[in-house]
Amino acid sequence: MTYHPKKERYEKMLYNTCGKSGLKLPAISLGLWHNFGDDASHENKRAICHTAFDLGITHFDLANNYGPPAGSAETAFGRILKDDFANHRDELIISSKAGYDMWPGPYGEWGSRKYLIASCDQSLKRLGVDYVDIFYSHRFDPNTPLEETMMALDHIVRSGRALYVGISSYNSQRTREAYQILKELGTPCLIHQPSYSMLNRWIEEDGLVDTLEELGIGSIVFSPLAQGMLTTKYLKDIPENSRAGQHKSLNPDFLNEKNIANIRSLNEIAKGRGQTLAQMAIAWVLRKGRITSALIGASRPEQVIDCAKAIENIEFSENELKEIDKYAVDGSINIWSKSIEK
Ligand code: NAP
Repeated sequence: MTYHPKKERYEKMLYNTCGKSGLKLPAISLGLWHNFGDDASHENKRAICHTAFDLGITHFDLANNYGPPAGSAETAFGRILKDDFANHRDELIISSKAGYDMWPGPYGEWGSRKYLIASCDQSLKRLGVDYVDIFYSHRFDPNTPLEETMMALDHIVRSGRALYVGISSYNSQRTREAYQILKELGTPCLIHQPSYSMLNRWIEEDGLVDTLEELGIGSIVFSPLAQGMLTTKYLKDIPENSRAGQHKSLNPDFLNEKNIANIRSLNEIAKGRGQTLAQMAIAWVLRKGRITSALIGASRPEQVIDCAKAIENIEFSENELKEIDKYAVDGSINIWSKSIEK
C-alpha cells in the first residue's frame, strides 16, 4: 500500500526550540530501540512510523545497536524512508548514536574517533541517507580523552555526516566539559539525551536539568514511560505481549509491590486529570517547558495515538505536582546508571 501522509499532520503537535539553536523538535519523538528488529513484522513497523508522522512526530531516534540483531532497526527504518518517506526527508529529524557494544574487537564500542566515525558511516549506509540530522556519543567513555570523542563529533559534522551533535547519559559535570570542548571546536552541543521519568528522577538530583538550561543545550528524555511501567498494563499481571513479559530490557523485578503501589496511585491522579497514565507521565516530563521532547517507544500504532494526546494537557497545578511527588519516587529502575557515574 502506498503511504500518503495526512495533510493535517502539523495541526496539533507542539514544536519546541531545542536549546539555543534554530532547530525545533516535536514535544513527543519516537524511538526505535525495541520493536524494529528482525524479530518484528515490517508492516507493524511501517504502521507505527506512519501513525507517528501523521500526528506530527517528525523526529525518529535510532542508534547503531538497535535491533535485534544490532543494526537491523536502522536497516528497517532505511527501508521505510525509501518506500514511504522518500518525498519527506526534509520534514524529518533522524538521529543515530554510537557508544555501546556494536562489533567485536577493541574498535567496536565506547568513544574513540576510530569507532565513532566508522560507526556513523555504517549507520548512514544502513539508513540509506547521506547524513543524519543528529549524531550522538551514546555514553561517556572514561578511557578515551573527552577531547578525542568531541573532536570526532566535530569531524562528523564538518564532513557532512551529521547536521548537529549531542551526548547521551553524560552526567552534569561531564556535560559541562563536553559543552566547553565542542564550543571551542565551533560545533555546539545541540542536545542531551538522558533517561527521565516519574520513577527515575536522576537528572533533577544530579543538576543536569539546570545545567542544560544554563548552557542552552536542548533535552530529549528517553523512557518517559519507564519502559511501559507508567501505563496500566502491569497493574494486574505481566501480559505476555509486553516488554517485561518478553524478557526484554524491562526486568520483571522492577514490577515489585512498592513500584506497583506508586503506579496505582499515579494512575488515580491521571484519571482525575482526564488522562491515561501514559499521557500524564509524558505531560509530567514536559511540565514547565524545561524539557524539549519526550522520547517514547511503541510496540503498536495505538500506543502512539494514546501518547500523542498527552500534549492536550501539559499544565499541572501546584497541588497536582505535590500529590504526584508523593508517588513519583525512585523505583531503582535506571539500568543506565553505570554510564552516568563516570
Ligand atoms: P518508553 O516510552 O518509556 O517505553 C515504551 C514502551 O512502553 C513501549 O514499547 C510499550 O511497551 C509501552 N507503551 C508505550 N506507549 C504505551 C501506551 N500508550 N499504553 C501502554 N503501553 C505503552 O520508552 P523506551 O521504549 O524505553 O525508550 C524510548 C526511546 O528512547 C528508545 O526507542 C530509544 O530511541 C531511546 N533510548 C535511548 C537510550 C540511550 O541510552 N540514549 C536508552 C534507552 C532508550 P510494550 O512493548 O510492552 O507494549
